Amino acid sequence: MKCDICGDRAIAYVKHLGAYLCKGHFVDYFEARVKRTLLRFKLVAPGDRVAVAVSGGKDSIATLYLLKMFSRELGYEVFGLAVDEGIQGYREYKLDALKKIASSVGVRLLVASFREYLGCSLDEAAKILLERGLEIKPCTVCGVFRRYVINKVAREMGATKLAMGHNLDDEIQVYLMNLLKGNIANLSREGIMTGTVQHHKFVRRIKPLYFILEKETLIYTRIRGLYTPFVECPYVVYSMRHNIRRWINRLEFEEPGSKLKFMASKELLVALLEGRGTEMGLNTCRVCGEPSSGYTCRACQLRSYLGVLTHKK
Ligand code: SF4
Ligand code: ZN
Repeated sequence: MKCDICGDRAIAYVKHLGAYLCKGHFVDYFEARVKRTLLRFKLVAPGDRVAVAVSGGKDSIATLYLLKMFSRELGYEVFGLAVDEGIQGYREYKLDALKKIASSVGVRLLVASFREYLGCSLDEAAKILLERGLEIKPCTVCGVFRRYVINKVAREMGATKLAMGHNLDDEIQVYLMNLLKGNIANLSREGIMTGTVQHHKFVRRIKPLYFILEKETLIYTRIRGLYTPFVECPYVVYSMRHNIRRWINRLEFEEPGSKLKFMASKELLVALLEGRGTEMGLNTCRVCGEPSSGYTCRACQLRSYLGVLTHKK
């Protein structure tokens, strides 16, 4: 196949454009699309200090790289924020690679750990969860603790925005998980920028890759040489999301276009929910003082379950 723009060898078909593109034109398309998203949805503004949550996956690395690339022109500052969950045989490899990438991109990278902020590593938490028959899954603890640490550290570092590497596939997975669990109210805070959730300690989240398919980021990061070694988290087997991801990919293979249809239905539902009283107002956790939807935040509830609630940071 040839590039529909220049006639060189094509490396990808971009469904959104209905065109085959060569390496160079794919990079142009990808970067222009992300920049347009930043501008169209006003995700960043001059003077912003943007913390990019980097997990070590291709999406968060692409987000860090692109936000740094546009920062001078759009007038904001960027730094990376990584969380060390304490997962042996996984996180240390990702962190090493992340530090190298951050230094090659020219951004500062902060690392905050579960142990320091919450009192136990994920490995220690998982041991307790397994002993108690997995009433709560490691990924649940990991997700709650990670959101807690990222928001707290970003705020302490003076961030005005918190950029997440969530792509279109991630958005669909979270959408379906919320539907399956009946968490309709959560949908109102899953847009491209959190706006309905307000609390003075909550840093607004932005998602520059919201309209980008996972496989497009994969191609982009390969072309740009931005990747970390493939190491899989040992707890991924307990994850509901893992199954949903596989199911959606199979559906897309059998019924092409399903992902875009899911996204369209999500956008419609989010728009319908707006102003219907489903927005999540936030309280302040009576234990730790962080934003919370109830009297006690989810992180403190889990810390109590794990027996590490007395830890103070
Ligand atoms: Fe955390 Fe689960 Fe992802 Fe592992 S697979 S890093 S436990 S969310
Ligand atoms: Zn709390």
